Parts: sequence; structure tokens; C-alpha cells
Amino acid sequence: MGPDFVLTGFVSNLDTNRDDWLVRTVLEDWNEADRPLPWRSIRDPWLILVSELMSQQTQMARVVPSWERFVAEFPDPASVARSTPARVVELWAGLGYNRRAIHLHQCATMIVEVHRGAVPDTLDDLMALPGVGPYTARAVMAFAFESDVGVLDTNVGRILARFDGTTYAPVDAQRRADALVPAGDAWRWNQALLDLGAGTCVKRAPKCEACAVRARCAWAGEGADPAIRSAGVSASQSRFVGSDRQGRGRLISALREHPIHRNDLAKTMGWPDDVDRAEAVAAGIVRDGLANIIDDRYVLPGSAVTGETGHIVRSVQNVCPSVDGNKAISC
Ligand code: SF4
Repeated sequence: MGPDFVLTGFVSNLDTNRDDWLVRTVLEDWNEADRPLPWRSIRDPWLILVSELMSQQTQMARVVPSWERFVAEFPDPASVARSTPARVVELWAGLGYNRRAIHLHQCATMIVEVHRGAVPDTLDDLMALPGVGPYTARAVMAFAFESDVGVLDTNVGRILARFDGTTYAPVDAQRRADALVPAGDAWRWNQALLDLGAGTCVKRAPKCEACAVRARCAWAGEGADPAIRSAGVSASQSRFVGSDRQGRGRLISALREHPIHRNDLAKTMGWPDDVDRAEAVAAGIVRDGLANIIDDRYVLPGSAVTGETGHIVRSVQNVCPSVDGNKAISC
């Protein structure tokens, strides 16, 4: 049976009956236990912020053990600020997109220096933190402070576009996400919507037959997918094998173990016959604040290393530019 409500254009958010029905149906259908995540039982804003930064572009199965290890060692921003970027990068092993680790260290430092160690609770203050973009800021507001904001990640963006049969512009998608939030119930609503996108309204082959909101979904899997190129919905990632990203990942993995001499750079990055490429990509890693060069050796920033002269040095901590944490971070 097809949907009983088919639209061809923008769905007015004045259609409150349909919106009320959507919210009610999603919440009634949601079972929190279907996707148990350790940070759902807490409201500590630092621990929530860490979970959100780790979850960007990384599978949840890899995030959970990393998050548990990380927060056991770094339960608050002050503990990270006292440590080195190198230690944060070491704990980031397995998550990829290592620049997020540098941002997290900068983020913790700024929280300590500017906000007296407490994660701020306003959109502007959160978005001023390194690596925190609109998605992460709203996620912290909704999941830690239970503020009534709509969390627009790629899953939610996909649902909104499909349910409304509309390819949204960024400002419209966020406005739509905010407008749907039931007053005083933002935590549950956003979690439920994220789960619907993660488990049912998935990118490829959405499970419309099993979807609770199919009856009034404008798209329901028929025809061109309006979620393609809709705001908040991420594009497919470029091929990893053979990419600069793969070489960067190899170098960071090696640096977690020990410094890498310049002569070993190309081999370490998987391009033994292309020294120029290796040095160019490694220069980008240094620019991003993920490595320093000491005595012709690459080291993680802030790591204690033995120089060729035999003395113990601590590498300087590079400053990395703030980026929108919701965007692809190449590393
Ligand atoms: S799974 Fe299908 S029916 Fe449900 S919201 Fe997505 S497109 Fe609509």
C-alpha cells in the first residue's frame, strides 16, 4: 500500500496536524533500548561533547569503546587541557579524521581558559569552540542541557527531506528541524529521530515497509530521492584506498608508536617511490597541528621525544584553525 499523503513540493510547517502526528508517531514508536549508547544515560555536557565529536563520520561500534577509554582518562575539560595533544591523538586511534583530536584538545583548553572549565550552554559560545559546528553545538544543547533545539545531522536531514518530499536549503532545513521539536521534550525527540534515520530511513534502501511514519511520508521510496543534495545530508565520501587521507592515516598511526625520521616518511605513508607526495602530504599534517618536526623527525605535538643530540625535548603545540565540526575533515 502506498502512502495516503503525497506531496510534490514544499510542505508548509503550518501543517501542524501532520507535524503533530509525525512527532507523536515517532515518539510512540521509539524504543530507547534498541540502540543502547552509554552517553544516553548521562547529561554531563563534557562527556556528551566528546561523544558528538567522536561520532562525526565514524561508525558507532568504533566510537563506543573509544569514548569509554577516553572519558575514563579525561573525565573533564581540565584533565585534557593539562595533558598534551599527543595523548589525545593517541587515544583517538581507530576513529580516523585525527584533526578532531587536535580540536578536542583546543576545545578543552578554551573551555578552561574562557569558561572556567564548564562547557557553555549557548549556541554562540558552543560554536566559538574549535571544531564545534552547528550540529555539534545543538547536539550538546539538546542532549546535555535538554534545550528545545532541533539537531540536524545527516540522518535527520534525510528524514525531513523524504517525509516532506522536499530538497531543503540549509536555512530551511534547520528551521524545519527546530519547528518540529516538542516543547520540553527535545532530548527524547532528537534521540528518536536520530534512531529512525540510523535504523529505518537509511541512506540506501530505506525500510519504508517497516517505517512508522510511512502513511504520511511524501516520498516513501517512490521516485527520485529528495534527500540527495538536501541540506544536512552528507555527500558520499571519496575513495579511501590510495588517497592522501590513507597516507595521512598511516603516518599518524605510526607516530602514535614512535617518531618517524624524514628518510622513512615515504615508506611509512605507503608511497615508497613518491617522496614528493609524502613530503607534501606530511607538510599538511604539520600545518594542521597534528605533527611537528624535530631533528628531521616527525613527532606528535606535545610528545616527549629524545632528540638526535640525546636530550629530552617536548615538541611545541601547534595551533590549528577552527573548522565546522559538521563538515568533512580531511586527515
Ligand atoms: S523510511 Fe521511508 S517511509 Fe519512513 S520516513 Fe524514510 S522514506 Fe519515509
